[in-house]
Formats: sequence, C-alpha cells, structure tokens
Amino acid sequence: MPTTAAPAAAIAVVPMLIGGRWVEASTDSWEDVYNPSTGQVIARTPHVGKDAVNKAVEAAAKALPDWAETPVVERARVMFRFRALMEQHFEELATLVTREHGKTLAEARAELNRGVEMVEFSAGMPAMLMGQTLPDIASGVDAECVKHPVGVCVGITPYNFPNMVPLWMFPVAITCGNTFVLKPSEKTPLSAVRLGELLTEAGLPDGVFNIVHGARDCVEALLTHPKVAAISFVGSTPVAKIVYETGTKHGKRVQAAGGAKNHLIIMPDADIDQTVKQLAASAYGCAGQRCMAGSVAVAVGGAGDPLVEGLVDFGKAMKVGASDPAVSSAAETIGMGPLIRDDHRKRVASYLDIAIQDGATVALDGRQAASGDGFLLGPSVVDHVAPTMRVVKEEIFGPVLSVARVETLEEALVQGDGCEFGNGAVIFTQSGHAAREFKRRFNAGMIGVNVGVPAPMAWFPFTGWNRSFFGDLHIQGTEGIQFYTRQKVTLTRWPKPSESHHDPVWRSGR
Ligand code: NAD
Repeated sequence: MPTTAAPAAAIAVVPMLIGGRWVEASTDSWEDVYNPSTGQVIARTPHVGKDAVNKAVEAAAKALPDWAETPVVERARVMFRFRALMEQHFEELATLVTREHGKTLAEARAELNRGVEMVEFSAGMPAMLMGQTLPDIASGVDAECVKHPVGVCVGITPYNFPNMVPLWMFPVAITCGNTFVLKPSEKTPLSAVRLGELLTEAGLPDGVFNIVHGARDCVEALLTHPKVAAISFVGSTPVAKIVYETGTKHGKRVQAAGGAKNHLIIMPDADIDQTVKQLAASAYGCAGQRCMAGSVAVAVGGAGDPLVEGLVDFGKAMKVGASDPAVSSAAETIGMGPLIRDDHRKRVASYLDIAIQDGATVALDGRQAASGDGFLLGPSVVDHVAPTMRVVKEEIFGPVLSVARVETLEEALVQGDGCEFGNGAVIFTQSGHAAREFKRRFNAGMIGVNVGVPAPMAWFPFTGWNRSFFGDLHIQGTEGIQFYTRQKVTLTRWPKPSESHHDPVWRSGR
C-alpha cells in the first residue's frame, strides 16, 4: 500500500525516465520496495498521476516522428546492442530480479533468458516487417500492403517477472517504430530502471522509451491519455478487465493478460517419478508466483495415492530460504525463495485453513517449513479437493498445489470446462490417444504434453483464453507484431502517357 510518510534519506527513491532524462518524481505518495529475503525496505517507488504521465506521453509523442522514420534496420541494430549489454550484465540483472522479487537465482537467470529471446526476436524485425505486393491486381494496377507503427504505446506490468514481462512488450513495440511508456509494478520497479539505463547505453534516442511509476492513478492517466494509441497489460484478471474496458472505451487497442488457475492431468500410465518432479517444478517454481504455475493436479484412476506421496516427499526435501546472495551464502543451493510480501504470504497461507473448512485435507503444510526474516512459506499439498472449493476456483499465486481425484479423462476435461481461466493446462501420460483428446478438447490456450510449464517462447504467441486474456492479439510472436503495427494498402497505376484516364479498378469486367 502507498504511504505519505517521506522516504528516509538512506532509502533511494526510484527515478522515472522521461525524454531521455532520469528525473525524481514530485509526489507525496510512495510505496516500499522490499527485499523479500530479508523483509527490509530497499527502495521506494513514487506514485505519480496525470502530470508526470502527461510529460512522459508528450516526450514519447515528440520522439515518434523521427523514430518511426528511422530505417527498421537501424532500429533493429539498437536491439543487437541492447542484447549484447544484457549478456554483459547478465548476472547483475539476474541478481537484481532476485533481490527485488525473491525468486531463486536459477529462476531469475531463466527469466532473463526468456527476456533476451524477446530482444533476439525483435532484432529480426526487418524480415518480419516486410509487406505484401501483388502486381497487376487489375490491369496496370499494382497493390501493396505495408506495416506502419501505431504511435505511442504503453506497457503496464506485474511484479512476478520484473525483467521478462516488460521485455515481452517494449523491444517489439520499439523495433516496429513506435515509442513507449512503461509503468512497471510498483513492487518491483528496479529491473525496469536498469533495462532503461542499458537501452540508453545501446543508443536509443531520447524519448523513445520512458518510465513512469505508480499504480491506479498512474494507470488511469495512461489509459485515458488522448496521445496513447495502444496498451499492453499483464497482471491479475480484475485489473486486466478494467484496463481492457477503460482503454478500448477511450479508443485504444488493448491486449490485457490476466490471472490463471492451471490444471495438470495425471493419467494412470504416467511415469510417476518424472511427473512428481515436473509437477513440483510447475507448482513451486518462483514460489508459485507464475501465471503458468500448476495449481490443480487432477489424478485419474489410481494415480492419486502415489502422486500425493511423491509430492509430499519432494516438498519435505525442498530447501526453502533466502535467495539473495548478498544475505545468504546458501542462496545458490535453495529450491524455493520467499514470496513477494508478508501480506501476500499470509493470504496464501490462509488458503490452507480455507481448504480444511471446505472439506479438503492438507497433506503437506508449508507453514511448518518457513522460518527466518524473509517472507518465506514452504510448499503445500492439499488433497481431495472438489471443483466447488475456493482452493480450486481462485488464483492463490503461491506454493500451494491442490490434488483432485477423478475416475476418467472425461471427468478431468469437465473440470477444465468449469474453470473461469484458460492459460495453461498439462497432461502427463504415455498414451497418444489421451494426449490427443486432451490437446484438442481442454479449455485453455497453452497446452503441455508431459511438459509441466508450457509457456511459449518469444516466437510463439502467449495464448491465454477465457478470463486469462482480454483482447484480440496476444503478446509475443507475430501476434505481437500485428498488435504494434497497422497496415496500409496502396494501389498504384502509372498510365502510359498516351492512355486515357479510365480507372481499371472500378471498371470491372466481371
Ligand atoms: P496486479 O493486477 O495487482 O498489478 C498489475 C499492474 O496493474 C501493476 O503495474 C499495478 O500497478 C497495476 N494495478 C494494480 N491495481 C490497479 C488498478 N486498480 N487500476 C489500474 N492499475 C492497477 O498484478 P500483480 O499482483 O502485480 O501480478 C500478479 C498477477 O499477474 C497474477 O494474477 C498473475 O496470474 C498475473 N500474470 C499474468 C500473466 C499472463 O501472461 N497471463 C503473466 C504474469 C502475471
């Protein structure tokens, strides 16, 4: 929650980037940024509103004409240089993610790799921005269709991937010829600031990329600003819906990715040892704070007992602790780091009591594994859940895996149909038939077959369905390029000097 108490002199206030200059916000509202490994405040995010947003959008609008006319090959070269700088500062960037978010260093490095791939994807933009032509679409008339930038684009991002999710957006938008204003999560703004510094070092002209900070007021000012053309949002479903509705009402194109409740189906023929490892990685990776985290395991036939037994053993053996190497010499060896904040840890833990009240059993209680100063919570397994229970219906966003037991694949597919979200869904099986049925029929947009986290890489769209996505064109892949461009069709006729000026397009013979 924001506070109006002035930041202590020792705590740095996170700067904004406007028109190529790093500036301190003028505000009386701030938010603490914590190191989740220690519970200590490490920076403060200013909450800004209309005035700062106006300045950032004006700076982006001013930079737009020159940047849009900069040859795409030159725009792509900025991405090559940016990529080189990201590689050069790889460990520093990964450590920063761990420091402000709490995920393990291995998870932070994996996040960074996914982000670097978005930059690599964007560096290939000259080939992807090519248009289409058809000579003689009518007698003597040539048709061409080319892609133009849309204008000033905005990115609003969540706390759980402070490096990667901004990189889902701005490299593509910028290389398509747009200018950009990023509003990173107020809980994890430091990675975005570092990326902004590296972009500047890579030679991006002033004003092409800007950063503002805050939450609701700042987002509202961005969504309603007349000079903003497109909004990319990633975050929880209630906010995604607000962003989509407000942005489209104000004439902007919007892509808004929301929350999730991912189901993992375990068929009786699955290799249980492998499945347990993959389920645990899916449910407990990044302490469960991933939109692609496995959340409900649906065990078919006799798979339930060995699965729960394996998960409990695996969970008990997991090393939970501080992930920041500056505060723990064991940081490289831990399996799960802290959650983002203490209130979130308490909220996640409360689902264990809710599950018991609703009639489920807690086979592994993560509260017992947690000790230390940071926002730690161990892995939990909740057994015998039913589709009506809150642990099955609501996004928990923490290391809690629920296990449901059904008799057939059909019943497992029905559970998917009842889920309001539709990000990821996974099946573990050795049966081609079961895998094919699942892939074709499960009600979600990203499917894994013996793959625990089926998150698409940069070259494919991130295809959330149902209430996991609001909009038409998804983030990533060629859909991302479509989102950040608009097409223009030109018909050209150069008549011979002797020809009369009839127009063959409209004088159709058919
Ligand atoms: P959040 O919705 O609280 O915040 C996301 C962004 O919206 C932040 O920048 C925040 O400042 C802003 N915001 C918050 N409240 C707002 C309001 N009332 N009006 C306008 N803006 C507001 O999400 P979070 O807690 O930062 O991130 C976790 C959520 O993000 C989870 O639900 C997770 O599933 C989702 N997520 C989804 C994907 C995906 O691709 N579908 C990826 C990552 C995270």
